[in-house]
Amino acid sequence: MIRQYKVPTSDPRVIPLCLLHWRSKDVSGEKYSRLTAVGVVHKKYVSSKTRGNFWLFKCTCGGEVIVRLTDVFTGKQSSCGCRRREVTRDRMQTHGKSQTDAYKTWSCMIRRCYDPRHPDYKNYAERDILICDHWYNPLQLEQSFLNFYNDMGDRPFKSSQIDRIDNDKGYFPENCRWSTPKQNSNNTRRTVFVTLNGVTRSVSEWADITGMPIQRIRCRANLGWAAEDVLNTNEGHRPIRKQ
Ligand SMILES: [Zn+2]
Repeated sequence: MIRQYKVPTSDPRVIPLCLLHWRSKDVSGEKYSRLTAVGVVHKKYVSSKTRGNFWLFKCTCGGEVIVRLTDVFTGKQSSCGCRRREVTRDRMQTHGKSQTDAYKTWSCMIRRCYDPRHPDYKNYAERDILICDHWYNPLQLEQSFLNFYNDMGDRPFKSSQIDRIDNDKGYFPENCRWSTPKQNSNNTRRTVFVTLNGVTRSVSEWADITGMPIQRIRCRANLGWAAEDVLNTNEGHRPIRKQ
């Protein structure tokens, strides 16, 4: 079989067709929707291990993308990803709430639970903290947000956060409320509670009440001291051992 020699493009990823040891239909220069074929790409630039001919395409937006040829032929991929971004952006703009705090809270919540790049992801993934389908359906993002918004409403005040009432359960309407950052951190797993004369408060709340440094209270509580010793405002206080 005689193949026409194609002048290699300057892109180091593209292999001249004449050097290919497998057959590829030559579509260079052809345009499919937004994508124009540039050339066959060496396998090492293809992150996926799946088989097929991967081509480099230039997109009308100026971006480029490496796609399996069949995905372009079948219309599975018709842009570098810009089409999807446009659609998502338009959808988010239609409900007019994309810049609201509730929207930010909602998208942050999703990233915490499902985006491995989010710094808190590990915490949530390990404990299997999930978001209910009503609030997060990747196929219906717009509706998911509206559901969330209808259930939770706007943030009641600027610093409010979404807080799970039962910390071991996920995000769903019955388990969520807006709260202040302090209430929220009271509810995290590390929260230490101290009960004095029948009144139970978290360490940070006791710090507010007594004016003592929160670390001192937490440290004493972790040592297992009795509540009256923990909350003794004297800095050098040591518990008296009862014989
Ligand atoms: Zn594009």
